[in-house]
Amino acid sequence: MMVRKAVLIPGDGIGPEVTDAVLSVLDAAAVEIEWVRRDAGIAALATGNDVLPEDTIEAIEHYQVALKGPCTTPVGDGFSSVNVQLRKRFNLYAAVRPVRSLAGVKTRYENVDLIIIRENTEGLYSGVENEVVPGVVMSMKVATENGCLRIAHWAFRFATQRQRRRITVFHKANIMKMTDGLFLRSSEQVHRKEYPNIDYETVIIDAGCMRLVQDPSQFDILLLENLYGDVVSDLCAGFVGGLGVIPGANYGENEAIFEAVHGSAPDIAGKNVANPLALLMSAVMMLNYLANDDPAYGSAAERIRRAYDQALLDGQKTRDLGGTLNTDEFARAVIDRL
Ligand code: ATP
Repeated sequence: MMVRKAVLIPGDGIGPEVTDAVLSVLDAAAVEIEWVRRDAGIAALATGNDVLPEDTIEAIEHYQVALKGPCTTPVGDGFSSVNVQLRKRFNLYAAVRPVRSLAGVKTRYENVDLIIIRENTEGLYSGVENEVVPGVVMSMKVATENGCLRIAHWAFRFATQRQRRRITVFHKANIMKMTDGLFLRSSEQVHRKEYPNIDYETVIIDAGCMRLVQDPSQFDILLLENLYGDVVSDLCAGFVGGLGVIPGANYGENEAIFEAVHGSAPDIAGKNVANPLALLMSAVMMLNYLANDDPAYGSAAERIRRAYDQALLDGQKTRDLGGTLNTDEFARAVIDRL
């Protein structure tokens, strides 16, 4: 295995503890990555830096691959989300979040195997808000033709490479005729002209959420604009065990940042009870991405995936999944099964 350098951002809240757990598994699996540690979020502020320090940006620019813990976003006021700043800075326009039933985790649903593809840079996340007159505030939803077409291309290309059968677009183009209308028209156009062999379906998002809750196994790939993708990701997490088991990847043209869907979970931070699996699964996605350059990363990813699947099957679980293990104990259970 070649030694690849990658950026590591432990983040805030539960970030450092789940990061430590993940690193212990990667070390035990003899994954050859030289980590370049950088701060972001409250962790960066605490060392007297900007919330998104320049040396963190430079490192991502240079090494192009990062594994990132969650960064706390203040609610209502305060600095703007570091997670969103990073996605915009590197144009990480495609967020991919696989949602799969895990054999050892019993939930109300079986056979869920969804992939959420979220447009990651536009929509209401443009952060353009203003006070029109006192008592009246406004938020701008932005959609560009380029942005809508590039995520549609990305999604159909991904579906083809992964041999997935269908893309369903969730939208609200009946109300937001211009913005969601453009998103919908763009994906329709890419489907019709370039990928007619992939099934394509459009659903108004409210009806789509109802269908999801009735039977999530009826969907394959969901393609959504930014805010819908954010909300539906957490909804879907609930089908398979919650936020502790949903990984994520954010891809741009050159850089890729791998991070769990969950936030910094301040309510359980520092208690050694968080589930490190979502970040571990994100690290596995990262290894599979690095396998494009060196297949050895792909075999390490497969070994780790088998080990955590087996741990869950053996009933080794953290509390969010109904088990009793602490963060580091779950990491140990995975290591024991490598
Ligand atoms: P942020 O402000 O950073 O988004 P948050 O607490 O608002 O943080 P999440 O971090 O996504 O949002 O957490 C939502 C809920 O899910 C919390 O109650 C948290 O305890 C739980 N949770 C999130 N991630 C995990 C995890 N890895 N293991 C166990 N519970 C988790």
